[in-house]
Amino acid sequence: MPGPGILAARLLGAYRHGFTTREGGVSRGAYATLNLSTSVGDDPARVRENWDRLRASTGLAFARVRQVHGCRVVGAEAGTDPVEEADAVTTSTPGVAACVSVADCVPVLLADPRSGAVAAVHAGWRGTIGGAAPAGVQALVERYGARPGDLLAAIGPGIGPCCFEVSRDLAARFRDEVGPVTATPRDQGSRVDLWRANELLLRRAGLRPARIETLGRCTSCEERTFFSHRRDDGLTGRHVAFIAAVS
Ligand SMILES: [Zn+2]
Repeated sequence: MPGPGILAARLLGAYRHGFTTREGGVSRGAYATLNLSTSVGDDPARVRENWDRLRASTGLAFARVRQVHGCRVVGAEAGTDPVEEADAVTTSTPGVAACVSVADCVPVLLADPRSGAVAAVHAGWRGTIGGAAPAGVQALVERYGARPGDLLAAIGPGIGPCCFEVSRDLAARFRDEVGPVTATPRDQGSRVDLWRANELLLRRAGLRPARIETLGRCTSCEERTFFSHRRDDGLTGRHVAFIAAVS
């Protein structure tokens, strides 16, 4: 039996972390196979089995939140169900993984090599423009004494600029509020680049460019590998992105 599909970031090699794919689970149909959310209409018993497989293959406890497309960052010291409303999690407890759930929205993982503390951030377009990723950086600074220039970051699979078509108004907001390189406002076919936007925001928060890795995998393009909320008209599963603290 193959284990859960998990992609890794080169820069985060010293941390147990990953971005799950849709491979290696037991869900069927639109949720095939490694759906990790019970709130999208999948059979709860299958989702439980998928989570059991992820826990078994990683040996980690997962600290999760109920995501609301905001910028609140909670601190966790143990694995938790997604009850508390927030869009990012930090932890410094070894063996506990900060974890967010995504299917097009961009996951951002952060690690502080000095303290061993980590963060996982959920950044869809609302979270991106609202500053969820910089809020994750700030939380590591305030809670664990991190220096932004030390931090490592990975921007995981999400809907890419190839597929993220938006209204002219939204593209104009990204251009004006985040930066011209993140959006091309047009009457038709306006695009936003959420990867680039998050990279830019992390750099403004003090991260060094060489310490930011963008995986560049588009969830909408790669149907065999990823769930995509937009491509699948909302009927789809969820991946998770996670990173565990080290002592
Ligand atoms: Zn694409």
